[in-house]
Amino acid sequence: MDTMAAWEVAAPGPIATRPLRAVRRPVPVPAADELLVRVRACAVCRTDLHVAEGDLPPHRSPVIPGHQVVGEVTAHGDAVTGWAAGDRAGIAWLRHTDQTCVYCRRGQENLCPSSRYTGWDADGGYAEYATVPADYAYRLPDGYDDVHLAPLLCAGIIGYRALRRAELPPGGTLGIYGFGSSAHLTAQVAIAQGATVYVMTRSPAARELGLGLGAAWAGGADEPPPVPLDAAILFAPVGDLVPPALSALDRGGTLAVAGIHLTDIPVLNYERHLFEERQLRSVAANTRDDGREFLALAAAHPLHVTTTVYPLDRADDALADLAGDRVEGAAVLVP
Ligand SMILES: [Zn+2]
Ligand SMILES: [Zn+2]
Repeated sequence: MDTMAAWEVAAPGPIATRPLRAVRRPVPVPAADELLVRVRACAVCRTDLHVAEGDLPPHRSPVIPGHQVVGEVTAHGDAVTGWAAGDRAGIAWLRHTDQTCVYCRRGQENLCPSSRYTGWDADGGYAEYATVPADYAYRLPDGYDDVHLAPLLCAGIIGYRALRRAELPPGGTLGIYGFGSSAHLTAQVAIAQGATVYVMTRSPAARELGLGLGAAWAGGADEPPPVPLDAAILFAPVGDLVPPALSALDRGGTLAVAGIHLTDIPVLNYERHLFEERQLRSVAANTRDDGREFLALAAAHPLHVTTTVYPLDRADDALADLAGDRVEGAAVLVP
């Protein structure tokens, strides 16, 4: 049987203990409804770190992480139509919903209790090959190479959903807390749509990046922005930033928390943080419509995607660098 290089998490633990392990695995065989994709690029997401460190409880063990895959279809199951060998395909986080529950039926498949996720419930893209149900694979826009497309598949799509959840009014002021892979894409979408963007981050290099991409102002992680914010998105997985971000909102403003995991939020003061109809909202994954909308926007407004490339055999270094805030933009693994 053909084998492939892959990385798996068998025993989650602190990143310093190197929970990722290099292995050889059989090349997966696509099920009837699946594509087999030869991975050409897989971007690293903070969620991969949560899977490796055990912040997300294991759903499959061992599991190959990675859910921002750009690759080439090399085979597919008998029930697949509309895809052919040689097509470029994207594999993202959401890979199954039941389409029968109350949430799916009202257009909120991101809340489906039967949902399954790439790199958590099923093997992902830290490997030379990966499979995906064809109905959950994305067609990808032209005008980007594989490396620059990969971060769009989670960082881009989830950031776009967070932006929608933040209910930024047209021409409004948007605060962005934490400025990594997802934030730098979301900022560009917001600016293209007419927003004025304020960046709060502890990283001087990220502040420079934000200003270079068109942000009006950049300051420290919890520094008050110079104007009240109509909306804000918290990308840093740091609950301590929720109170200053809520305080920075104007009346009626909304703070959306983009991450899947957040450290504890300190006690809030109703008057200072929530009164006058300030809102605090979470973001749970995305629908496929979010993904298709975002990729259409990315086709219409070419995004400047900052990446740091790592060969696949350095996936553990890429994850450690992400944990240590040493990656500019998105880390992308290339087999
Ligand atoms: Zn459902
Ligand atoms: Zn992700």
